[in-house]
Amino acid sequence: MYNTINLDKLKEECGVIGIYGPGEQQLSRMAYFGLHALQHRGQESAGIAVNQGGQITYYKEMGLVQEVFSDDIIERLQGDIAVGHVRYSTTGESYVINAQPLVVRYKGGSIALAHNGNLINAGEIRDELEDQGVIFQTSIDSEVIANLIARYNAFGIEKAIQKTMGQIRGSYALVISYGDKLIGVRDPNGLRPLCIGKIDGGYVLSSESCAFNVLGAEFIRDVAAGEMVIIEGGQIRSIQYSNEQKKALCSFEFVYFARPDSVLDGQSVYISRRNAGKMLAKEHPAEADLVIAVPDSGTVAAIGYAEESKIPFGEGLIKNRYVGRTFIQPDQKMRELSVRLKLNVLKENIKGKRIVLIDDSIVRGTTSGRIVEMLKAAGAAEVHLRVCSPPVKFSCYFGIDTPTRKNLVGATHSIEEIRKMVGADSLGYLSIEGLLESIHESGEGLCSACFSGDYPMEVPKSGNKYLFEKR
Ligand code: SF4
Repeated sequence: MYNTINLDKLKEECGVIGIYGPGEQQLSRMAYFGLHALQHRGQESAGIAVNQGGQITYYKEMGLVQEVFSDDIIERLQGDIAVGHVRYSTTGESYVINAQPLVVRYKGGSIALAHNGNLINAGEIRDELEDQGVIFQTSIDSEVIANLIARYNAFGIEKAIQKTMGQIRGSYALVISYGDKLIGVRDPNGLRPLCIGKIDGGYVLSSESCAFNVLGAEFIRDVAAGEMVIIEGGQIRSIQYSNEQKKALCSFEFVYFARPDSVLDGQSVYISRRNAGKMLAKEHPAEADLVIAVPDSGTVAAIGYAEESKIPFGEGLIKNRYVGRTFIQPDQKMRELSVRLKLNVLKENIKGKRIVLIDDSIVRGTTSGRIVEMLKAAGAAEVHLRVCSPPVKFSCYFGIDTPTRKNLVGATHSIEEIRKMVGADSLGYLSIEGLLESIHESGEGLCSACFSGDYPMEVPKSGNKYLFEKR
């Protein structure tokens, strides 16, 4: 079985990119490079659609960006506007039919659409549409968006999108191409990120600004919550289609999902993580000789913890960077082996020392126990586990793959029980306030629902949050 080794982390679902570059010969290659920069947001499928005067051609396949696209395929994708997508699927629905961008042909023309997020009322809308005879080809909620846009086509694309946004609820960062336009839309809460960059003769829309560095694009600004931006004729226009909702950018983007070299809604992910490490040192100090990180996601916070605590930072775990995807059986023994395959202890640095181990989050708690065990087996005198986010207690309905509550160790166990379970000498989690303040001084404008249960909108009370994908 081809599987992804993961260290007990939540999973982002998608990354989107759009490039507007009339006359640019290398447009699809630029989209390809942009998707490379967003690969961390989804590793199961990748796709690029190019629009030439309203005619859309595309290629999408299962696999990593570099596995999906050959030079030949990239050469064949010629156009003035490109839309790209990387996807991680939440359930067994991991088929190429569900890969994006979605390309839909309807009476008004063709659209290519790439979506990052999750709609919480997609099932209801799909039922209604199916009752009216609409046929769906995929099991992804993004097809509901494409269908609604097609239904409203008589109003013109911009009105059609606005009418669609009036009907859907949930999280979405959308990149759409239609006719000679590239359109970006962010949900009214701004749950998922989307930003705008400028390149020679064009513009880029991307889930994260790290893609701009690769493309040599200049960061302009984030798309605002509830905003639609329309790029055409070399100009950007903006329509604020909603300003009714409370801003709630996903705080987990700063904890784990986003790359540290990205800036989301004006806040550097790197600085936030370092702040979180400092805050963690204040909230949960430890008597220790060395601060180490679970690489790579804990590294920046560990540097912050070391700065604040004055305990030296060092390397204690070495990551094998080439086992991201490998052939493993998803049974207990193999999961245990997979941690050792991915991480190895640097015994020379650990032996006889009291260690502060920094991890960004604990989801099920399985990996943390194995890492503590490995450190102790290598001779660590004590292991003090410090987690740079609060306990994950609630499921996410907005595009992040969280296990059901019964599998979230933070929901089912007390902190002392988790400490015993993972075998650490002490355990401390960052508080919710500490996390939010480490991102924005005011601590406002962020979603922290998976820690607090305080969702920015009403969410389904029962059933599976991915019922739609499981139909
Ligand atoms: S519930 Fe958690 S993971 Fe989901 S959007 Fe909110 S902060 Fe992010």
